[in-house]
Amino acid sequence: MPASAAAPGFKTTPFWQDTAPPRELPDIPLPKDADVVIVGSGYTGLSAALTLARAGKRVHVLEADKYPGAGASTRNAGFVGSQLWSKFKPLAEKLGVEKAAAYTSEAVNAHKYVVSLIEREQISCHYVHNGRFIAAHSPNSYASLTKEAELLRKHFGIACEMVPRAWQRQEIGTDFFHGGMIHPLTGSLHPGLYYAGLLDRVLAAGVTIHTKTKALSIDRTSNGAFTVGTSRGTLSADRVILGTNGYTDHTFPWFKRRIITIHTAIAVTEPLDPALIREVLPSGRTFIDTRMNPVSIRPMPDGRRLQFTAARGLFVSDNETKATEIRNAAAFAVPAVKDVRISHCWTGQMGFTFDKLPHIGERNGVLYAMGYCGTGLPMSTWLGHKLALRILGDKNGATGLDGRAFPTRPFYTGNPWFLPLIVQWYGHKDRRDLKRARKASS
Ligand SMILES: Cc1cc2nc3c(=O)[nH]c(=O)nc-3n(C[C@H](O)[C@H](O)[C@H](O)COP(=O)(O)OP(=O)(O)OC[C@H]3O[C@@H](n4cnc5c(N)ncnc54)[C@H](O)[C@@H]3O)c2cc1C
Repeated sequence: MPASAAAPGFKTTPFWQDTAPPRELPDIPLPKDADVVIVGSGYTGLSAALTLARAGKRVHVLEADKYPGAGASTRNAGFVGSQLWSKFKPLAEKLGVEKAAAYTSEAVNAHKYVVSLIEREQISCHYVHNGRFIAAHSPNSYASLTKEAELLRKHFGIACEMVPRAWQRQEIGTDFFHGGMIHPLTGSLHPGLYYAGLLDRVLAAGVTIHTKTKALSIDRTSNGAFTVGTSRGTLSADRVILGTNGYTDHTFPWFKRRIITIHTAIAVTEPLDPALIREVLPSGRTFIDTRMNPVSIRPMPDGRRLQFTAARGLFVSDNETKATEIRNAAAFAVPAVKDVRISHCWTGQMGFTFDKLPHIGERNGVLYAMGYCGTGLPMSTWLGHKLALRILGDKNGATGLDGRAFPTRPFYTGNPWFLPLIVQWYGHKDRRDLKRARKASS
């Protein structure tokens, strides 16, 4: 068993909570009725609530947990990207350029919306527009990134830059990769403070959030309105939004059958020597690589720590072992971090989908947005806003993601038993690619 990477005082709570602690809200009884009931108080729910309340709607948000935003929205890595999980080139090869462009443009819009929201609402959340370095793990993936850069420039005017292997140490402190691409339309922020800022704006706009209130049923009435049964009573609503993403459970089986919940972990180092941080991320950009099981690294807002994510450790149960596995996965590619210690390692639930794309739509009159596949910080904020526009009858509520089936698989009831096999298969492909790349360059 490898030596533990845990630092003294190791915490299993999100690093973000140190500066944005969970907030307890006053216990307000459920009303008899509301214009809109929103299930889930993450970014999807709050973003929708903000737009609706500012337009004069009476909005009530139901949250099963003790704290608002207890799901992924206060537990994520804080990358504010402008790409979908499925990249443009493979999407275009699979679905055609038109669809790939329609879907990807929503990721670009989502990014721009979040940046403008932060500015407009003056949310102090350490947003930095630092760009991302995407490192190629093989010459083939460098060639794919070059093509991706061309396509992003052509279709979206995004000025991605290629960095050949000889210069990659300007971006990442290792020779492990084969060059990479700088994606400029990417930033990072403190997700806890971003959430806290949204929460303040939503409460100020008159929205009521009922914590410790789980939605148990949503039934359509004969007049087209809804009755929402909760753990604390029943209320009626003209419209209902479901924003439960990776925390969707068997209460809503149709959605549970379409969401693949992945319990993902994040590790944050203890304060490091600034010289080491400069060595690892010399340009201060965030980092990810192109392996199927990639590692991501970002500088933290305090400028003194690094954050790592990796698939390794996904299926071990205790956070100290996860921390060690994630640190070691980072060190495999970036040896300079092999001895750093981890002060915080926590988990959160991501919502993936079978077509690896986000979904927005309506099911039996219930509006939903979910399945953001790891890109939900901007996408949930954006699609929550879009759902609100739909309720307000605004034609700008349409998106390029509309009108698609939300796929499931036969016999899938919401237990993603196949994930360990997929991660192993991805690991096998990564090792094979690395071996071939080593052979080709020797
Ligand atoms: C570890 C991790 C790292 C991530 N990193 C990034 C990143 O760097 N960049 C990025 O873009 N995305 C990232 N994501 C994804 C992003 O955080 C999510 O997509 C986004 O926060 C989803 O927001 P949401 O409001 O839809 O759902 P959530 O924030 O998950 O909120 C759903 C809420 O619904 C509540 N709920 C569920 N069922 C009920 C019910 N029946 N009644 C009442 N309430 C209910 C839950 O308690 C929960 O609070 C990450 C996710 C994880 C887990």
